[in-house]
Amino acid sequence: MKDSSETRSIFVTGLKNAHAMENQALSIMKPQVSRIENYPDVASRLEQHIRETEGQIARLEEILSSLSEDHSTLNMALSFTGSMAAMGHSIAGDEIIKNSLANFAFENFEIAAYKSLMTIAELGGFPGSVAALKANLDEEIAMAKWLDDNLRSVTIKFASLKEAGMSAKV
Ligand code: MG
Ligand code: FE
Repeated sequence: MKDSSETRSIFVTGLKNAHAMENQALSIMKPQVSRIENYPDVASRLEQHIRETEGQIARLEEILSSLSEDHSTLNMALSFTGSMAAMGHSIAGDEIIKNSLANFAFENFEIAAYKSLMTIAELGGFPGSVAALKANLDEEIAMAKWLDDNLRSVTIKFASLKEAGMSAKV
């Protein structure tokens, strides 16, 4: 299949959705990292992934520019969503656990999004964008793996802090 207008339009829509997804990722991670007190490993991995996410947004904007698509209208205020989610988790008292689960779900959503976008890029004849999408995908896979690998230790730490009567939940 060549650069047909239908596939191009699917690709552009997917890129715009991914751009919104990454901004949502920032709005989810930033409030979390600002609240963490007792889980420095989680905080530093989140900080790393915030920087990676900013790079992912830049890659998506480069692809959109290369397709002569404007991205200036894409930056909607999504931070409300992430702040509200963080607040709900904090009221429930197990914020670090719920955030760990939600982050794992979100990273896997991102993985699926990039796999689908790479498929569209191949079908639509946009080989120049595949490497950048793969770079984003690899960072999401690494983050999902880190969350998976650390879920047990975070859960054990949460339980032991609770057991010790520590009031600090994050
Ligand atoms: Mg991302
Ligand atoms: Fe991510």
